[in-house]
Amino acid sequence: MKEEKGSCPRCSKEFSGYPALSRRDNSTDVCSECGNKESMMDFIPFDRLPKGELLTEMIFQKKIGVDFDDWKQWKISMDSERKNAD
Ligand SMILES: [Zn+2]
Repeated sequence: MKEEKGSCPRCSKEFSGYPALSRRDNSTDVCSECGNKESMMDFIPFDRLPKGELLTEMIFQKKIGVDFDDWKQWKISMDSERKNAD
């Protein structure tokens, strides 16, 4: 892992130290806080995600050239799988 200084492309905050690899494209460095948030976003059911966090995701995914709808569809399919498992 390389150490990088700069601002996080996801939250725009300055960060130093070890970045986390974004789960969205597996190539963009984000701050460790955003790394944690991405895992949280993947875990929480789509309809329960906080609106503000969802907006951050949309903007970030657009920025790195990832299709937000793909992630949304994946989330929804994960949610229904979880429901079927109950
Ligand atoms: Zn960040």
